[in-house]
Amino acid sequence: MNLSKRLACFSTLPFLLTPVIADGPFYGDPPDASHPWGVHDHNRPQPAIVAPGTFSSQAVPGKPPGDAVVLFDGTEATMKNWVPAGKPKNDKRWALTNGALQCTPGAGDVKTTAEFGDCQLHIEWTAPTEVKGNSQGRGNSGVFFLGGAIEVQVLDNYNNPSYADGMAGSVYGVNPPMANSLRKPGEWQMYDIIFRRPVYKDGMEVDPGRVTVMINGVVVQDSTPLEGGGGHRSRSKSRPFPESGPLKLQDHGNTTAFRNIWYRPLSPRSVEGGTNGRLTKEAAMEKRQEIAAGIRENAATKTGKEQMYLLFESLCYALHAETLAAATAMSGTYVAELKANEKEALEKRKGEVMQARQAFNYLVKHEFVPSDFAGKEDVETIIEAQGWNKKK
Ligand code: MG
Repeated sequence: MNLSKRLACFSTLPFLLTPVIADGPFYGDPPDASHPWGVHDHNRPQPAIVAPGTFSSQAVPGKPPGDAVVLFDGTEATMKNWVPAGKPKNDKRWALTNGALQCTPGAGDVKTTAEFGDCQLHIEWTAPTEVKGNSQGRGNSGVFFLGGAIEVQVLDNYNNPSYADGMAGSVYGVNPPMANSLRKPGEWQMYDIIFRRPVYKDGMEVDPGRVTVMINGVVVQDSTPLEGGGGHRSRSKSRPFPESGPLKLQDHGNTTAFRNIWYRPLSPRSVEGGTNGRLTKEAAMEKRQEIAAGIRENAATKTGKEQMYLLFESLCYALHAETLAAATAMSGTYVAELKANEKEALEKRKGEVMQARQAFNYLVKHEFVPSDFAGKEDVETIIEAQGWNKKK
């Protein structure tokens, strides 16, 4: 709703219902050093509308959310999204088997043609029904991010212990899963993974990156910090990862099969200049300047009271001497126009005057205008003269 519509709403509502503009300006605590938006700020962008997916059953894979990038959906067409990760050593290739992408032992790892970084990944897998081998030898595969930077282990650990930091859902060689929530071999296992790569700036780590993993709806990694690529028998060391890379699935000599593979790219974090989370002072101020400039631009297309409020609103994000002077002058004209009304005429504009009081008090309280701002006192004088302060 734009400002004029909000103001129109306000003026038609009974005064007793104030504060009315729950999502409007001059309401919650203003922007500060690390928050570019105020509390309940109507200028804060709305979340994107995403059609939800459906859950998988054992028999039928679920449907991805509306904005997901589908990497494999059981069709021949999505088989084309996968290529050998290295130079093929033979003619063996992963196969489309019963709607699943199945490892053909000896074919080598496969990777996506798509390259991506921070993401929400969904992937389902099933280990061979016929149980053969033990420890790392059963249904072993792996989900590798950024072309191999880290492995989230895929392994049939149903009644099959192994070293903890190599079990299903482990960050391989780094951190064991917090739980073993696997189903029997032959049943479908669901992995939901939130992957955030490390962020480095000028050679310094500003965010180690982290991975959250759920297996069949059970959290097994909870924002686990990354330590570089987990290796077999070797200790990982923190290091920068590429910004994007393919997703890789491992050929570990077992006929593990995958289905319903999709991802959603995630927005940049605050350390990357994004607005997801608390910002650095510099990034918050940059964003505030941007919001203020946008509001001033909008104000330039308006007139009168609407323009005045927008100019004042912009000051809540960034001080701007010229804007302050212009808005103050406009408030003088506005209040003078109010004062020129007869008592009865003003009665019809009670809501509007109360709105002005709310806005002007807010601006003074949060020091966006000087404490002796004339508009505040003038509006109080009108309210007093109209008898609107008296209790009924
Ligand atoms: Mg593996």
